[in-house]
Amino acid sequence: MAKDNRQKKRMKAAKKAAREAKRSGGTVAPEAGAQVQLRGTRTATSSSRSASTRRKKKKNGAPVGKIILVVLFLLFLAALVWFGVMAVKYVKTYLSGDSGNGTTAVVTAKENDNVAYYLLGMLGKEKENGTTGRMQMVSVVCYDKKAKTVNVMQVPTGTYLGDPEHFDVKTVGGVWSTPKKLDWCETCRKQVFEAEITDGKHNVTLENGKPCNTKITKKTGSSVNNLLEVFTLQYTLPIDNYYILPQEAFVKLVDLVGGVDIKLGEAMTLGDITYDAGVQTVDGEGALEYALGDWESVNGELKNLTRQRQVYVALFERLMTTDKEKLDEDVLYPLMKGSTPIRTKRDNEIADDINLMIKLVGDLNKIDRSKITVSILPGEVATLDGSNFYSVHKDELCTFINDYLNPYGTPLTTEYLKMTEISNTEKADLKTATFDKLLVKQTGFIEEEEEEE
Ligand SMILES: [Zn+2]
Repeated sequence: MAKDNRQKKRMKAAKKAAREAKRSGGTVAPEAGAQVQLRGTRTATSSSRSASTRRKKKKNGAPVGKIILVVLFLLFLAALVWFGVMAVKYVKTYLSGDSGNGTTAVVTAKENDNVAYYLLGMLGKEKENGTTGRMQMVSVVCYDKKAKTVNVMQVPTGTYLGDPEHFDVKTVGGVWSTPKKLDWCETCRKQVFEAEITDGKHNVTLENGKPCNTKITKKTGSSVNNLLEVFTLQYTLPIDNYYILPQEAFVKLVDLVGGVDIKLGEAMTLGDITYDAGVQTVDGEGALEYALGDWESVNGELKNLTRQRQVYVALFERLMTTDKEKLDEDVLYPLMKGSTPIRTKRDNEIADDINLMIKLVGDLNKIDRSKITVSILPGEVATLDGSNFYSVHKDELCTFINDYLNPYGTPLTTEYLKMTEISNTEKADLKTATFDKLLVKQTGFIEEEEEEE
């Protein structure tokens, strides 16, 4: 016991040190950069000012015309400095991606940062060679900080993409494990786009004036980037951050919060345990099995989305109501430090990630549970070339986005939705439900096994 405590203390100290190092390393850099730029401008102004003062002194008693010239020169300098500052500002916004591009029409919805979009996902089962299969859960979360509402859109992983230009696979769930291969130039060592390719060769002129002409090769693309492209290119939703859970991370997370209470319609065996019907506290393995169910087929997954949301609602409720310090030290730290952390926008910066998650969960906890909705992406099961897919209904999706995911942006019209609709035969049932109606009281608690660290 004493040994345990010592170990824990040591771990806490190491963690604190690491976090402080991260914090200073993470925040100092950008500020320093900004200061350098400011200092640069300031020096330019002061040196020109002193130069002109010197000039003025020398030419004491000079004719009025010359003084006017000096004043004009100063004004000109001031204008130059102003332009410089504006240019730096512009480049900064551009680099941070705020300016967006033609394809992301709803980016303007992010006025004053009132809205944040998150992608939640769960990876497929890990295979023996380390790769994963089709993702097993994908949801888009729209958090309206001003209105204090959250709307979640569950996206079936079998949703048809129909966009070979941007994706090498046919479904949303397949993108992570098989991201689009990039056209690559080995000479220029960079990704090459269509306009720069002629007859399979890089058609640009190199710095030495000669044509590159290198044969274009294929390079493995980024899972994250390609997955985000589904939502930025096809759905016009600018995702701010993502939380993608390997299956082991999901199981650990549920166990670390003491399991989840869910209402079982019938007695069932989940993991190694057989549960009676009714509200039961289910452990990580059980929650995973319950959430996935008959997931392999498109119809099975669709049916399962309603079970899945019960599990997620329970898990979120537990995360939101866990004391901050406990959430930090007993839940998120062991999870993020472990072998299967949640994948986020800033992988590897564990301390920053944990802080962001604690803040997000804390903010969400202040939201009335009846103001959090969960819906299924509007669409239907459709067959194409002998395979089943989930086909989006573009007209209904457009309405759904405007009603639930685009509170302050210009209304979206269907031509911006770039996925392929296979069929649209009947009105979709979005099964919209509010968090408070989905949630059962979280009272049960499964003792954690002593094997963490
Ligand atoms: Zn090249």
